[in-house]
Amino acid sequence: MLCMKGLLNKDYDIAIVGAGMVGLTIANLFRNTSLHIALIDRNESLLTLPAIKEKSPRFDPRVSALSMASRNILEELGVWSNIMDERLCGYLNMRVWDADGTGEINFSASDLNQVELGTIVENSVLIKALTNALIGGSNIDFLFPHSVVELIETNDNVELKMATDICIKAKLVIAADGSNSKIRELAGFSVKEWDYDHHAIVTTVETREAHQKIALQRFIETGPLAFLPLLTDAEDKEQNYCSIVWSVIPERAEELMELDDKEFCEELNSSIEFSRGNIQDCEKRYCFPLKQRHALEYVKGKIVLAGDAAHSIHPLAGQGVNLGLLDARALASEINLGLGAGRKISDPIVLNRYQRKRKGHNLSMMWLMEGFKHLFAEQSLPVRWLRNIGMNGVDNFPIAKNYLARRAMGLDA
Ligand SMILES: Cc1cc2nc3c(=O)[nH]c(=O)nc-3n(C[C@H](O)[C@H](O)[C@H](O)COP(=O)(O)OP(=O)(O)OC[C@H]3O[C@@H](n4cnc5c(N)ncnc54)[C@H](O)[C@@H]3O)c2cc1C
Repeated sequence: MLCMKGLLNKDYDIAIVGAGMVGLTIANLFRNTSLHIALIDRNESLLTLPAIKEKSPRFDPRVSALSMASRNILEELGVWSNIMDERLCGYLNMRVWDADGTGEINFSASDLNQVELGTIVENSVLIKALTNALIGGSNIDFLFPHSVVELIETNDNVELKMATDICIKAKLVIAADGSNSKIRELAGFSVKEWDYDHHAIVTTVETREAHQKIALQRFIETGPLAFLPLLTDAEDKEQNYCSIVWSVIPERAEELMELDDKEFCEELNSSIEFSRGNIQDCEKRYCFPLKQRHALEYVKGKIVLAGDAAHSIHPLAGQGVNLGLLDARALASEINLGLGAGRKISDPIVLNRYQRKRKGHNLSMMWLMEGFKHLFAEQSLPVRWLRNIGMNGVDNFPIAKNYLARRAMGLDA
């Protein structure tokens, strides 16, 4: 029994471990219900993030391209208006092209009868909006900063012990603690994992030409390079900031990280074929090794995985958090349905329904990304030739193009 020696020894219906974008969304889906919830994160700064406007025009180096499906979830939660009050950029078009040939696809929101293809939101803006929506709610305790270090499942509960010696009990634990999930490890979930052999470099750049709300993605032999448009505020006429995600093989990442800002901007300029005129300046660069991970099961006893704790995916199509928000909605909806039908919160029937709803969808997206990564890394002439023909074929075949776009937007999820 962990909680015999622990300090707090409080009982909850649900403990959500991880207050990232997914954990916070789950907490919001249970906001103001009769369920008593502990939201645990090892990071304290979530409650004290400054309003973005105070630090404008500097952007968070971590941004997410949110799909329409994610936007719908955040609108239902009443969080979207808070994000709009801060800062976001809806993108209207996306140009994807192959560095090795003439293959190109252009996606456009108007072709799909949509207002936009998606929205670029700084991660800190989304986290702040989700956190603010929870503050003042009566049923959620914020346990920050607490890092879960031990876990024991008993007949009725799961006991969680923090590094600070605090201990709590919960009828259900939701692990939303990211791709290196401690809960997943402590509970002994099996994971299939492999290295993408790619590192992602992220930073914000200032360009000479306006981005006109067009996202760019160029597939280069060493990995894809994405330019995601940003707006300093809703009135931004210059439109000359973009967030970049440059996925490259580790040796190339090392070279790029060692360059000074001027040299890095020059490399970036030629790698994006000067599509933004000139890159004037860049902020500090960050580098993340990329791994694909997928838990073989999302449910084990009274513990359930969501978001990156269940699956982490190459950022080339910007799907990670979008899949996580769909997990959040499916999990909350199954739990609510189960409780409505008189079932226990950790009833395996309820939790397995969630797994069935999400696992296949997540896996299919992961395989699609894996396929893209290999397809564009392939240098043999026949594959390059077919790839270029394929891209141009899709570009001229609206049904196929719209299918791909609708999938990325989460409209068919
Ligand atoms: C370069 C890059 C670009 C990306 N771009 C996009 C994009 O455009 N669109 C998109 O949809 N996705 C994108 N992703 C993926 C996206 O960032 C992730 O899918 C998303 O952050 C996962 O959210 P999460 O809440 O599941 O996990 P995380 O964001 O990792 O949050 C986990 C939380 O758990 C906490 N935690 C961890 N361990 C413990 C512990 N033991 N105890 C307590 N708390 C703990 C952490 O402090 C953290 O707050 C990108 C990823 C990368 C690397």
